[in-house]
Amino acid sequence: MTQVQDARIQKLNNAPIRDRTYVLYWMQASQRAEDNYALEYAVQRANELNKPLLVAFGLMDDYPDANLRHYLFMLEGLKEVQESLERRKIKMVVQKGAPPVVAETLGQEASLVVTDMGYLRLQRQWRKQLAGRLNCQLIQVEDNVVVPVELASNKAEYGARTLRPKLQKHVDHFLLELRTSAVKHSSLELEVESLDLKNPGELCASLKLNREVAGVSNFFSGGTRQAKTSLHQFLEQNFDSYADNRNQPQTSDTSYMAMYLHFGQISPIYIALKAKEAKSKGKNIESFLEELIVRRELAMNFTHFNDTYDDYSVLPDWAKKTLNEHKKDKRDPHYSLEQLEKAQTHDPYWNAAMKEMRFTGYMHNYMRMYWGKKLLEWSPDPEEGFKRTLFLNNKYFLDGRDPNSFTGVAWCYGQHDRAWQERAIFGKIRYMNANGLKAKSKPDEYVKKVNKLVAKATGESLTAVEQASLF
Ligand SMILES: Cc1cc2nc3c(=O)[nH]c(=O)nc-3n(C[C@H](O)[C@H](O)[C@H](O)COP(=O)(O)OP(=O)(O)OC[C@H]3O[C@@H](n4cnc5c(N)ncnc54)[C@H](O)[C@@H]3O)c2cc1C
Repeated sequence: MTQVQDARIQKLNNAPIRDRTYVLYWMQASQRAEDNYALEYAVQRANELNKPLLVAFGLMDDYPDANLRHYLFMLEGLKEVQESLERRKIKMVVQKGAPPVVAETLGQEASLVVTDMGYLRLQRQWRKQLAGRLNCQLIQVEDNVVVPVELASNKAEYGARTLRPKLQKHVDHFLLELRTSAVKHSSLELEVESLDLKNPGELCASLKLNREVAGVSNFFSGGTRQAKTSLHQFLEQNFDSYADNRNQPQTSDTSYMAMYLHFGQISPIYIALKAKEAKSKGKNIESFLEELIVRRELAMNFTHFNDTYDDYSVLPDWAKKTLNEHKKDKRDPHYSLEQLEKAQTHDPYWNAAMKEMRFTGYMHNYMRMYWGKKLLEWSPDPEEGFKRTLFLNNKYFLDGRDPNSFTGVAWCYGQHDRAWQERAIFGKIRYMNANGLKAKSKPDEYVKKVNKLVAKATGESLTAVEQASLF
């Protein structure tokens, strides 16, 4: 059991600690009441200052690229956080408004404000804005990674190969269970307004959201409890096959933790510790921690040190050069964005992948690679392909709009990879094709798996779904 390590804590302004009503934890990236370093740090500071702790979340209904699918999942999680905190005698309020503005307003009554850390531009801007405006101290606690991003490295890394040894030096120091403390003073009596979270569906209905993409509660529901249940199920039932089946999209032997990690509903430290305690060891734990820690924290490194992580220009020079040399190569076939989004290509495997993401909000990792590579191949030019991949990724995946999203898409275009044998359209960028899929996995079975998922999502019979999939 540990307390919050110093390397996770950063003072964001020079304002003093004040003698006011409460300590405020502005929750943003770590939407959980358990294994939350920012929360435990805030509890500790509130107790030292003899103040109650108020937790606040700012809810804007026009978060970039977010739609009903994302909001519903997030609010299901926040409802649970509010209930869990209430049991700890901590009041949590959710107020409508731009998150840093909500924090600034409630910060007027705060002795000290604590927040968590995010790795995207908007999240950095919000913290900077708040730091400039708040007249009490603002402290950021980094807790959605195992190794704090700037401790691991002080620059954008070339790839997993260069980041891995830097992370390995620190991992054991940070893979420790977090100690929780009780609050000395309840904040439940504080009179601070909050939206009613009891019914996330109804709350969504009252917000001005983008409703283009439906919720996927029949596949994934949000919240720490569900995240932990799914994790334990994975560790008990599928972990033994993880390393062998990681690239077998017809199976479902992965953890499905990405969407919970994206919203901060589960801690990567908790996941890693539980995986290490599981019976399955050897190549499975090695392979899982490689993804969860090395690949995931490479994504944080990518977005933290590259401000233009969502733009084609971010790609390494060799990748842009080779793609540019093949920009005018004939694309045959090529598809419009609409055809792609409706899964109307000649390729049943790709169509199944597109349907998996559209109907369930998730896609197996191996198919994400294939899916992204084909968007490069079938779009009018690489810049347009990059934009389309990111657009579809962030629109449909529950785990979209994440550092992993920007990194995964950029990877399809050469980021964190090396040059391969030159060919049309791709130049020296790594290529994937249907024959490769067939040689390495069972994509026809993957199509069957997705048809069943679509039948579940639409309520249609499997036969009807299968017939609609014929080309
Ligand atoms: C084109 C493309 C787009 C992607 N878009 C996203 C996205 O929007 N959001 C997202 O979270 N991931 C994305 N990924 C990475 C990866 O595919 C998913 O994280 C993974 O498939 C999620 O499934 P899981 O939770 O069952 O993973 P598991 O295999 O169980 O892995 C456990 C955890 O490790 C991390 N992880 C696994 N694979 C990777 C990887 N390749 N890179 C970084 N971290 C990884 C994830 O946090 C994951 O939850 C993308 C990859 C590609 C190639």
